[in-house]
Amino acid sequence: MGAELAMLDIYEGTVWRPPSEARSLIIQATVGCSWNRCTFCPPYKDKEFRIKTVDEFKADVDRAFYFHRRNDRIFIADGNALCIPTDDLLQMLDYVYLKFKLLQRVSIYGGPLDVKEKTQEELDLLKKRGLKMVYLGLESGNAKVLRDVQKGATPEMMVEAARKLKEAHMWVSSIFILGLGGVGDSVDHAQDTARILNRMDPDYAAALSLMLEDGTDICKARDDGTFQPLDPVQTLEELRTIVDGLELTRCTFRANHASNYAPIGGKLPDDKADILEQIDAALEKGRFKPDGLRGL
Ligand code: SF4
Repeated sequence: MGAELAMLDIYEGTVWRPPSEARSLIIQATVGCSWNRCTFCPPYKDKEFRIKTVDEFKADVDRAFYFHRRNDRIFIADGNALCIPTDDLLQMLDYVYLKFKLLQRVSIYGGPLDVKEKTQEELDLLKKRGLKMVYLGLESGNAKVLRDVQKGATPEMMVEAARKLKEAHMWVSSIFILGLGGVGDSVDHAQDTARILNRMDPDYAAALSLMLEDGTDICKARDDGTFQPLDPVQTLEELRTIVDGLELTRCTFRANHASNYAPIGGKLPDDKADILEQIDAALEKGRFKPDGLRGL
């Protein structure tokens, strides 16, 4: 969060954004996440979900504009903001493009249910009015892991959501979490995540590594012994299995988020061998980011 924005007090609670939106202006159109049940997810537990009115959104934009008028990227937060009714979202998009003359792209978090509830015509219209990218949290391609973490979605729903977004010519950025299946489901999680990513064929894919945040259900499962987290070596081996299984058309692949044990990345398919070498080199060196330095 930029200091000027913090002073303007336009955010409710802590605001989260994808790593690749680091230089974007963030405007909150929803507060919290409408699902808010995933066992590993701490960000929105302190917020009661609501959708801001178009007028509230415009007032936030006006205040942010005062300091950030030359901004060319906007990220619409919070969690699954794509659930906003399409008419409201269109008004929000129109307003940011009206205000920010240099604006090149607007992106948003969306869940598969949000995509499902929009018709193809609505998605086409949102793209036409400047919604260029949707961050779709796949988390895992394995149905059991998704059930265990209470994602509220199946791998097939993820594939269908990606298909609709791509049909609307939006960019799809898919985020998955290394270690989400623990030791017990690591192999299935890795193999199925690669398989489902291949079917989604996202434009961007990002691997995060599981963070066990105090108070989350997955942290409690670790404490009572029902969930066994991966160590850094197992986490990178899982990443290796996923990358090895990827057959993507054209994708920017990143595993360099603050939560990751080693910074890895490249373009797929061209850099696949190089990415695998990066992982092997990290495993060989055996020097991983200490847990205390990892972050969300
Ligand atoms: S992971 Fe996404 S859908 Fe799940 S609770 Fe967190 S923000 Fe909501």
